[in-house]
Amino acid sequence: MPYFGALEAGGTKMACAIASGQGEILERATLPTRSPEETMPELLAFFRGKPLAAMGIGCFGPVGLDRRSPCYGRILATPKAAWRGFPIVERFQEALGIPVGLDTDVNTAALGEWAWGGAQGLGTAAYLTVGTGVGLGVIVGGRPHHGMLHPEGGHLPVVRRADDPLARGVCPFHPSCLEGLASGPAIAARWGRPAQELAERREVWELEAFYLAQALCAYIMVLSPERIILGGGVMHQAQLFPLIREEVRRQLGGYISGGGLADLETYIVPASLGDSQGLLGAVKLAENAYKEDGGRL
Ligand code: ADP
Ligand code: ZN
Repeated sequence: MPYFGALEAGGTKMACAIASGQGEILERATLPTRSPEETMPELLAFFRGKPLAAMGIGCFGPVGLDRRSPCYGRILATPKAAWRGFPIVERFQEALGIPVGLDTDVNTAALGEWAWGGAQGLGTAAYLTVGTGVGLGVIVGGRPHHGMLHPEGGHLPVVRRADDPLARGVCPFHPSCLEGLASGPAIAARWGRPAQELAERREVWELEAFYLAQALCAYIMVLSPERIILGGGVMHQAQLFPLIREEVRRQLGGYISGGGLADLETYIVPASLGDSQGLLGAVKLAENAYKEDGGRL
C-alpha cells in the first residue's frame, strides 16, 4: 500500500502530513507561511526522503486548475504577493519526482468529507467553510467541481437585513456578499468583539443564520446537493445549526421539500473530521494523481 504526502497550504500556516491510502495520518508538521524562498525548503525537508507515491495539495487561492491553461498548477491573484504566480505543482513535482494533485483549500476539505467524513457515498455534496473567509467546495461524482475556474460560493450576493448594524459588508469587492456579511471578521466588525466571545448573544446568531440560510437556499436551488456540511471556526457555535435549519425551511417557502430536505437534521450537518478534512482531502488528491499517472492501489 503506497504512502502519500498531503499539504494544506494556508495563508498563515502550512499543515503537512504523511498518510496511508486509507487516510491514516502517520506523521504531521505545521510551519508558518512565509515567502516561497523561505517556506519551500522547509516543506521539502519534511517530504523528502520518504517513500511517497504521490502528493496532494489543498491551496489558498485562487489557483489555476485548468490543465489546458498555462496557469495550471499556479497560485493566481492572491493578496499574499510573494506567492502570486508561484508554480506550486511544478516545484513539488520537480523536487520530489512524483505526481502532484492540486485543488483549492475548500474543494480539498470537501473531498476529505466525501472520502472519509460526512459526505461518504454521496453523488453531490456541498461543503461550506465559515471562518476568516467563507468558501464553498462542491463535490460532483466523487470529484471537486471546477468548471471555468472553481466555484466562489462564498461571495454569493445576499440580501442585507435592514436592521443589520453593519452598514456595508467587509468584502472589498462586494457591498453585500456572504463573506462580507457572515465571515468571522464580519461578525467582529458588526458587534465589536470576536465571534467566539459572542456565544450568549442570540441576535448575533439569528442574523448570522439569516445570511447563511440565504446562501444555503441558493446552493440547494442551483446544485441540488444531497447534503450540506458546514465547517470553519464560526461553525463551532453549535447553536447556529437549529437556527440555520429553521431559516432555510422558512426561506424555501415549501417550494421544495422532498429528498434530504425532509430531515434537515441530517441534511445540514457540522463537519465531521475535526479540523483534519483539509489534510485528508489532500491525501485523496494525492491518490487521484497517483491513479491518473497509472499507479495501482
Ligand atoms: P481560517 O479561516 O483562518 O483558516 P478558522 O476557520 O478558525 O480559520 O476561522 C477563523 C475565524 O473564525 C475568526 O474570525 C474567528 O473569530 C472565528 N472563530 C474561531 N473560533 C470560533 C468559535 N469558537 N466561535 C465563533 N467563531 C470562531
Ligand atoms: Zn465578496
